[in-house]
Amino acid sequence: MLAGLLVAALPAYAAASDWSDLDELQSTLTRAQFDARLTRVYAPDGRLDDRLREHAGAMAIFASAAAAATGAPLDEVFFAAPNDASPHPARSFLDPDDLRALGNPSNAPLRGLRIMLDPGHIGGEWARVEERWFWLNRIGWPVQEAALTRYVARLLRARLEAAGAEVRITCPDFTPATAKRPDDYRARDSELAADPAYAHLPDLFREGALLDARRKRREFLFVRGAEIQARADIVNAWRPDLTLCLHFNAAGGAYTQSTPDNRLLFLIHGNYLPGELNDEAQLHALFRKLLEGSHDTERRVAEALSQTFFEATGLPPCGGSDISRPLGTNLYVQVRNLAANRLFRGPVVFLEPYYQNNAGVYARIQLGDYDGLRDVENRPQPSIFREYADAAAAGILRAYAPSNAPSPATVPPPARDVPHVKALDEP
Ligand SMILES: [Zn+2]
Repeated sequence: MLAGLLVAALPAYAAASDWSDLDELQSTLTRAQFDARLTRVYAPDGRLDDRLREHAGAMAIFASAAAAATGAPLDEVFFAAPNDASPHPARSFLDPDDLRALGNPSNAPLRGLRIMLDPGHIGGEWARVEERWFWLNRIGWPVQEAALTRYVARLLRARLEAAGAEVRITCPDFTPATAKRPDDYRARDSELAADPAYAHLPDLFREGALLDARRKRREFLFVRGAEIQARADIVNAWRPDLTLCLHFNAAGGAYTQSTPDNRLLFLIHGNYLPGELNDEAQLHALFRKLLEGSHDTERRVAEALSQTFFEATGLPPCGGSDISRPLGTNLYVQVRNLAANRLFRGPVVFLEPYYQNNAGVYARIQLGDYDGLRDVENRPQPSIFREYADAAAAGILRAYAPSNAPSPATVPPPARDVPHVKALDEP
């Protein structure tokens, strides 16, 4: 399950940006390449048209439509010449073609590839605080998504290392990556006033609600703000070739209700919403992401993962929504602007397989990890953690070492009318 959109709206992360980090990425894209990425991936539907102005081989970026009419630009993007067939790559990471060009031996197809694994959420004593804890019908082990994702990270690391990759884990245990804690944000309690919806109620009721809301906000700033930024600092200090954010998904009402539904979703960066584009920090991130050239790798990796997970599970995709938008005909791969894939440099793919509150998935989680197959819902099934790690490793091999992989394009294009299932944290 995801966390992210709300972070952007918080003043602590909305400081004016230093755009100078775009300098090293200038003149690396032609105008056509720039347009294709902007309109197809990052700002579809012409969302930025009213604040971009082209002149003399460059595109000026403005904070707003009003600023575009009268003000100074935030920055400019300079284009490579239109007839320059291969502008020098600005990439700081190896893409699948680069890795293939290394000519690795078949027993180490991923040698030279540096992969960061980011297990979703913190877990442990923070699992309830971050609302990634549920206990369906109060039966069995209360599920902590972070424990699941961290366990999968360990399995996946072993598989990727066996194939020659260098692998790190952002947050390998239940200690937060950030040194901050919720109490560090008490000084900002006064930013949250009493809810006017409760104005008719006794003062005592209103005070109770306000104290609870302020506590929740401190926890939010810790979990969604400081923790994701701390992990971004870890990723950006290493600059891996690829970061995989490992999650298990769930459908609405996950804490109390089971669902017969169960789907796969793979998210890559893009689809900035109109409101997000009004935040200069996010606008800046959009252009850094666009220019760093991570999209093609994200798409290739996500499509390979959608194939291998489909082969392993047969599960259908999620429907799209305003905030999570299918990239093409493969509905399993969608573009979404999240704090982590915005702040982490280089290619980032979010894996969101399985609904934890699906009865069969919940039953598989309760069995823990095991060899071979066990009957769940009247059919033999492997450990869900090994199935996840095996499918993820196979997807990485398929993306980066196709000579060792089965033929691609095994995912049937699903029908476009897949219903959208609302995730827990969607508005
Ligand atoms: Zn999650």
